[in-house]
Amino acid sequence: MTSEDLRRRVRDVPDFPEPGVLFRDITPLLGEPDALRSAVRLLADPFRERSVDLVVGIESRGFIFGPPVALELGAGFQIARKLGKLPWKTHGERYQLEYGTAQLEIHQDAVRPGQRVLVIDDVIATGGTAAAATRLLQRVGGVVVAAAFLIELDALAGRRALGDVPVFSLIHY
Ligand code: AMP
Repeated sequence: MTSEDLRRRVRDVPDFPEPGVLFRDITPLLGEPDALRSAVRLLADPFRERSVDLVVGIESRGFIFGPPVALELGAGFQIARKLGKLPWKTHGERYQLEYGTAQLEIHQDAVRPGQRVLVIDDVIATGGTAAAATRLLQRVGGVVVAAAFLIELDALAGRRALGDVPVFSLIHY
């Protein structure tokens, strides 16, 4: 399947979770074996020769694609979670929401200095969440090779928030 085939399997849900938001629902794509397999392979393809040690998935839909992409790349997997969800010692990084701020955390032993890390989430919108994850990983000495997304909302220019970190997305809106 091509990324265009995948795009046709994303459902647009207007006004979810609040009025004015067009939610890109990936569950139809996840439910089809060929689409799921293609999405994982296409997400992993650009990084097969990039010596990725660790894939970090962002809560919560980064946890769907992170592990299979990590397996494709022969890498480990770790999670970046919202404030208060991780049981062990954490590092945290705050980021801006439309109203107020939020915090993303990782375990202090999630990444070893010098490890090459690929950040994964389903959607990049403003880029605030992925930028916080990137700062967090860089702070603990991780080398962020790239950030990869199934979907990028181009109009929101989220990749700018990631500065020098290369951004790869399969489907653009
Ligand atoms: P942002 O920090 O603005 O890039 O938002 C990214 C996070 O919000 C990701 O974890 C996405 O899963 C979620 N998200 C933002 N906008 C959408 C959307 N239109 N459809 C689905 N998920 C979204």
